[in-house]
Amino acid sequence: MRCGGSFLLVLGTSVVLAMVPTRATGAVELTCASSATLEALVSCIRDQMPGRGSRSLVAPSFLEMSAWRSVVSAMLRGDCGFALPYSLSPLVRIRPFRDAESGRSYCVLLETADWNGDGIVDRGFGAFIVDAGAERELSHQVAHPIADAGTETQAVTVFKETRSRTFLLAGAHRDASPGVSGFYGSSVSSDAAHSAATMFHATHVEIAAYYGEKPWWAIQWHGMSEDTCEVVDVHLSHGVDTSPTAGDKIMELRDHLRAHEPTWRIGVAGGRECALNGTSNIQGHYLNSAPTGWTYGGAAAPPSRRFVHIEQHPGFRDPERWIAAVLATWP
Ligand SMILES: [Zn+2]
Repeated sequence: MRCGGSFLLVLGTSVVLAMVPTRATGAVELTCASSATLEALVSCIRDQMPGRGSRSLVAPSFLEMSAWRSVVSAMLRGDCGFALPYSLSPLVRIRPFRDAESGRSYCVLLETADWNGDGIVDRGFGAFIVDAGAERELSHQVAHPIADAGTETQAVTVFKETRSRTFLLAGAHRDASPGVSGFYGSSVSSDAAHSAATMFHATHVEIAAYYGEKPWWAIQWHGMSEDTCEVVDVHLSHGVDTSPTAGDKIMELRDHLRAHEPTWRIGVAGGRECALNGTSNIQGHYLNSAPTGWTYGGAAAPPSRRFVHIEQHPGFRDPERWIAAVLATWP
């Protein structure tokens, strides 16, 4: 289902079936209603989100973000069949989703509104999926759909096969709004890894609030180009430049990957091979920031490392080659 041919067939079907006329003339809802598996659903959502330079997105309002967080919170507590807040109900849908391959059920929140009927959702909110019967407190996150090609279906397959708690997908290409430039040449408003004004970041914050002091990890799946960090295939960090210490989760993940994929060249933060440590990533900043009462400069305990940032060359994004290592690292 993840290959090009069958995927296009699924997409074509879903577009036809999903065009349910709503209020305004020409307005449609893009619900991906015919997607049978999580991979097909995520591919469908990706293919109807604002692409590179496609439009100037309107950032979510404070009211919309608060409402979205309340929905995320309810989903994390296992609810799925409730009415959406008024500020969101014209724009998004929440529904149970049964994966036809695994037979398992999930709760899906996704943007559906396409008021001008161009086949692309209007706001770039993205999607959030919860497995209420999860066995691992992991959040698989895709901040750069389309741009980091293949990470969408890679991450959702790892989410599914490792029975993790949540999957989070940004709602637009990182350069969907190129008019507003920010740090590192990326758009402030549509680059979910570098803008707090996204539903992606609001969801991340709500997930962190849900767990509080309890252990959990956010694994963010990225893709780098072939000519970046040429001496490694995969690079792991916590969103900081410092080297991980023994017993650290990214050292464990590296060792398990090496065991299963002995030919892979795997870098970690602190080495000289690659500097893509995600240090400007705001989801990483959020989890790495000091908890209340922590004092800078003193003999304080190091901050927890809940954020796992994975960079990969194009040939290393096959989920099947990651699943065993993720299972072993988070047994
Ligand atoms: Zn990326």
